[in-house]
Amino acid sequence: MHNKTLAELAAGLRAGEFSSEELTRHLLARIGRLDPRLNSVITLTEERALAQARAADARLATGEVGPLTGIPFLHKDIFCTDGVRTSCGSRMLDNFEAPYDATVTEKLAAAGAVMLGKTNMDEFAMGSSNETSFYGPVKNPWDLERVPGGSSGGSAAAVAARLAPAATGTDTGGSIRQPAALCGITGIKPTYGRVSRWGMIAFASSLDQGGPMTRTAEDAALMLAAMAGFDERDSTSIDRPVDDYAAALGRPLQGLRIGLPKEYFGEGLDAAVGAAIEAAIDEYRKLGAEVQDISLPNTALAVPAYYVVAPAECSSNLSRFDGVRFGHRCENPRDLEDLYVRSRGEGFGAEVKRRIMVGTYALSAGYYDAYYLKAQQVRQLIRKDFIDAFEQVDLILGPTSPTPAFRLGEKADDPVTMYLSDIYTIAVNLAGLPGLSIPAGFVDGLPVGLQLIGSYFDEARLLNAAHQYQQVTDWHGRVPEGFE
Ligand code: GLN
Repeated sequence: MHNKTLAELAAGLRAGEFSSEELTRHLLARIGRLDPRLNSVITLTEERALAQARAADARLATGEVGPLTGIPFLHKDIFCTDGVRTSCGSRMLDNFEAPYDATVTEKLAAAGAVMLGKTNMDEFAMGSSNETSFYGPVKNPWDLERVPGGSSGGSAAAVAARLAPAATGTDTGGSIRQPAALCGITGIKPTYGRVSRWGMIAFASSLDQGGPMTRTAEDAALMLAAMAGFDERDSTSIDRPVDDYAAALGRPLQGLRIGLPKEYFGEGLDAAVGAAIEAAIDEYRKLGAEVQDISLPNTALAVPAYYVVAPAECSSNLSRFDGVRFGHRCENPRDLEDLYVRSRGEGFGAEVKRRIMVGTYALSAGYYDAYYLKAQQVRQLIRKDFIDAFEQVDLILGPTSPTPAFRLGEKADDPVTMYLSDIYTIAVNLAGLPGLSIPAGFVDGLPVGLQLIGSYFDEARLLNAAHQYQQVTDWHGRVPEGFE
């Protein structure tokens, strides 16, 4: 059962081949048996899962069901889940039970989904390797000595290891796409504003966006349809109808104009990863796409601009964790100042502290213009690069990450090298565009991810382009050894 895709499971449930309760028990047992190797799940919600599964079975019996009815999911532990610990990978929230569900978890539950539990992640979604989690690193199922990517590394590892057919993720600078690439799964970051951020713990609010992590583009289409939509509780949510992503999956790619940004194929790209991407480009040509070279001239400025904007927003967002209202509180504070300083000092890890310091500095009087304002101006240039490119092409194609999965510890002490693992993904968040990653080959047994970037609200076209590629390749169907 665990090797079936979400779409296949939905068909099996409807045909009565197995029940949601059987499927849920099977996956819960699999998590219990296999996850000690990966550390991808922080909290298992067995009772809630079985109750939701039984309710789904009752609905399946009536025949009034949608594609997600009875399908088990894992949620990144950044989404608030009513009455369930919502840690955000941090000691700060280790004791925090959310008093409500995030819009995303609520919508998926309303669509009949079963929540198996919550996945491990970099602390407050800050990282590219899942090594900053308070709950310890996640291991990559393709090589247990390597990172799964981050920050949605738990979700990516769990889906790759067939512990769940799908999981939620969030992407502020690449955190859905980069771990999807490193674990050999499919992940899409929707257009900013497409998926509600309500109840999703904020890292950098102008960049954060939730999205699906699945094994196939078809599954991502089904899941995104349930997650997307206007939400009046999120002031940046966009009031615009959700496209029928599944219906768009049959379109031929004849005449599709694909742009290859020269900046994504230069120095820093691992040669073997580059070769895998070239092979994928040939597949797209065979599928009828017209491939042309383009330029995104401000690409080199994306990482530096992001590492001003994201820390600035995080320093403001994380000021709410003060030891008073929720989260970690130090023992026996002497006074208010001591309460703040020690609660935050004990509750946050090193990477989070580094970001808060950088962000506070960038926003401080006298430096605001030089750093924060300048970064916002650069952000506009980056956005304009993409808008200009989409005058010439329908989609942009390149690698998701410059290298395959690196070793645990390899970059942990060198933040700047770590930050460069998102060099191809970060600009997409700065511009607010949708982007996805799909498996496109292997290098020394490690998956390679191909990134496709679309224009605003072009998720349907992106998903279809990914789906057509998955019809002629089988990279997405490979299973890591030991997790068959
Ligand atoms: N790796 C990037 C960072 O650490 C992106 C993280 C994310 O997308 N949440 O900020």
